[in-house]
Amino acid sequence: MFWTSRPYRRGGTARTVLGMQITADRTACVGAGQCALVAGELFDQDDDGLVLLLEPHPDAADETAARRAVSLCPARAISVSE
Ligand code: SF4
Repeated sequence: MFWTSRPYRRGGTARTVLGMQITADRTACVGAGQCALVAGELFDQDDDGLVLLLEPHPDAADETAARRAVSLCPARAISVSE
């Protein structure tokens, strides 16, 4: 039997893990843009400035940026769970 310390997402690639799940609530977003500024590979903004979640399952290398975006969001519109 094959075990990993962190499960890989079904159908994903070897560098994509289930370890972190990002959630973005566009109804709470106020368009401050901090998320896209500190984690542009994970977040963007639409034409109205509202958050667009680009990657709900970040690579391990992007998890710190995801946590930083959560901490900086003034509307508490984004969260992470593990
Ligand atoms: S930092 Fe928060 S309020 Fe600002 S764009 Fe991102 S999700 Fe929206």
